[in-house]
Amino acid sequence: MSRDGDGWTECTAGHRHWGRYGAAGLLLTAPGGDGAARVLLQHRAAYSHHGDTWGVPGGARGRAEPAEAAALREAAEETGLNPGEVVVASSWVDDHGGWAYTTVLAAAPRLLEVHAEDRESTAVAWVPVPDVELLDLHPGFAASWPVVRDLLPDLRG
Ligand SMILES: [Zn+2]
Repeated sequence: MSRDGDGWTECTAGHRHWGRYGAAGLLLTAPGGDGAARVLLQHRAAYSHHGDTWGVPGGARGRAEPAEAAALREAAEETGLNPGEVVVASSWVDDHGGWAYTTVLAAAPRLLEVHAEDRESTAVAWVPVPDVELLDLHPGFAASWPVVRDLLPDLRG
């Protein structure tokens, strides 16, 4: 049922997007060994849409699937993380008109063990927040990063 959103669509701005009912990604933060915040990013395979770039794990939402559930499901599939160790804090919607991408912001108590679990991702990494903008980013993630960076859950509690 959660796969019924797989497919291409077009927003009213004329972009081509993956996810007939929108898409969602998980922006997960956790404290690194030095206590400074890191975020979990995925390097996408060269053949994928805007491939060979870094972004958050995520993908198409199912027709009746909440963004939060889709983001956690996709992140678990792509990185092997355990959604039970993740606490969702908030979300941010980038609405293109007729299509929207929801960034689900969440925190983990520590750097969870992750690996690239499917063909779409070639690597996953916990990236220090100041280093994110130094990477070659997926254009959608690059556009949202200045906003969502400021919404990251505060790890100092
Ligand atoms: Zn669009």
